[in-house]
Amino acid sequence: MAEQSPEISVVVPIYNEEATIPELYRRLTAALEAFGRSYEIIAIDDGSKDRSVHLLREYHAQDPRFRVVRLMRNYGQSPALYAGFSRTRGQYVVMIDADLQNFPEDIPKLIEKLEEGYDMVSGFRKDRKDGLMRHLFSRSINYVINRITRQPLSDYGCALKAFRRELVDHLGTFTHRCRYLPVDAAWVGGAVAEVEVRHAERTQGESKYGILKLVQTAFDLLTGITVAPLQFIGLSGFGFAAIGFAMSLRVAYVRLVHGDVHQLESIIAIFFFLAGMQMVATGLMCEYIGRLYVEVQRKPYYIIRDELE
Ligand code: UDP
Ligand code: MG
Repeated sequence: MAEQSPEISVVVPIYNEEATIPELYRRLTAALEAFGRSYEIIAIDDGSKDRSVHLLREYHAQDPRFRVVRLMRNYGQSPALYAGFSRTRGQYVVMIDADLQNFPEDIPKLIEKLEEGYDMVSGFRKDRKDGLMRHLFSRSINYVINRITRQPLSDYGCALKAFRRELVDHLGTFTHRCRYLPVDAAWVGGAVAEVEVRHAERTQGESKYGILKLVQTAFDLLTGITVAPLQFIGLSGFGFAAIGFAMSLRVAYVRLVHGDVHQLESIIAIFFFLAGMQMVATGLMCEYIGRLYVEVQRKPYYIIRDELE
């Protein structure tokens, strides 16, 4: 029988991770056993198409503390995490990726920090083992999120984080569609700490985030948490109008003083530029309207197929 309320719940989202599951199970349980606290591990199968589910079932059969939640299809990492969090019973909840880029052995460090009185402890990868492009991309996204949430974290993208039960319960009340756990947790507020964690290259399986998906996720995140881009458009529109006004003053002056001016080319250039700006603005507004459309449907964020426990 699984214990009713373990001290620690570890949530792992799994999407086609057959290559890493055995090693993940081994290292995760070894690290938690060594820590000596009661625990449960909740693996969320996010619609894997490989042998992941088969492996998860096997480990569950051997070990009741290893719980498995299967989602109906692949909803994405964030819905998978939320599904996992909704099933946790522990006093502390830890999220970690399946690919062992984060070290399960760092979990005790996070828990001990939480116990100093924090509500959320975020790992940060000082020596990150990802490509340069990926690194720069993450850094810029991190900068923008820090500006928007006003909850500066060195590494929002770090998948190793720990939360106090109360914070997790608050997250469970959210109903909006675009949810990113660390951002939402920062929104809830509370005392936040960071601890340095180790990072490894992904040695098995492959990253689920190509450059296109990264850009898409970043855009989704940005328009999901802020209307700043719309305000920016309004502001720049104002700026353009001011420039246009100044230019017409100049045209009037040149005309009065020097006679006629032919500047068709520059006018065409300006026209294309403004038309482009307009289209970007319209597209962005459509994005927000699309979001409203999605929100009013009030569909669930994920659907659980079944649970092994
Ligand atoms: N993941 C998921 N659903 C998805 C994509 C990813 O559950 O649609 C999981 C994946 O199995 C892994 C974690 O999210 O445990 C992070 O994925 P990945 O390692 O590919 O991301 P990266 O480290 O490249 O950011
Ligand atoms: Mg990874």
